[in-house]
Amino acid sequence: MLTDYHVHLRRDAEGTSAAGAFTVANAERYRAAASEHGIAELGVSEHVHRFSAALDVWDHPFWRASAVDDLDAYCEFVRERTDLRLGIEADFVPGREDRMANLLDGRDWDYVIGSVHFIGDGAVDDPAYDVYRSLSPEQVWRRYFETLAEAARSGLFDVLAHPDLVKIWGGERPRPEGDVRRWYEPAIEAIAESGIAVEVSTAGLRKPVGEIYPSRAFLELCVEAGCPIALSSDAHAPEDVGHGYAAALELLADVGVRELCVFERRARRLEPIG
Ligand SMILES: [Zn+2]
Ligand SMILES: [Zn+2]
Repeated sequence: MLTDYHVHLRRDAEGTSAAGAFTVANAERYRAAASEHGIAELGVSEHVHRFSAALDVWDHPFWRASAVDDLDAYCEFVRERTDLRLGIEADFVPGREDRMANLLDGRDWDYVIGSVHFIGDGAVDDPAYDVYRSLSPEQVWRRYFETLAEAARSGLFDVLAHPDLVKIWGGERPRPEGDVRRWYEPAIEAIAESGIAVEVSTAGLRKPVGEIYPSRAFLELCVEAGCPIALSSDAHAPEDVGHGYAAALELLADVGVRELCVFERRARRLEPIG
């Protein structure tokens, strides 16, 4: 069984609205694209910073600018008017774990995807808040993987998104000296201890780095440590659903992954890829 759980109905472009994204017709476009790729398990995971409730968690300027949607209306739309699984992509904000827990609690998610997009106030993946303005490449990569470990240990999330997102820019940002694998092991130790599922995401294929998240070396260590694997595209448009899955399935087979996580009401089971 194939899954695509990390999917956004709402595009990133400015000038879009919840009213335009959260429609039955739009959900059906994603469902049709999933069917074309043989993806039976389809869920959505809108960015937490899209919702006004997120400002109770963190008041970063990027969040303030985008937090306009109503979280309950989103949940109700997905549950009542679509056949999609209900998820959310929630940032890990160090020190704000209780506030994020308050936001997540009491809503009936199928799964919660945890992401690290920021180190302090600097963004790993957004040039408008570029983390490289204040930190060296060495600091960015080290702190990224430290924060990833904290995110796993927080217990807030079911899936850890795009685990080596920090590589997103490829050659467009300076890289740290030496082998970056030195930061993998402590992160994977935390991930394995926490029991969180590790996302294999084809989104990196659409970014400057042109690689699946995580790297093969990172994934091999996860598999060795017994981490369950979730597969997603991080689509922000129907045409991205299942994008790059042939490459992802080849990688998964190569490293010995034969089962994928399936989620329902925050309970996880493993299903053969088939
Ligand atoms: Zn993300
Ligand atoms: Zn995403």
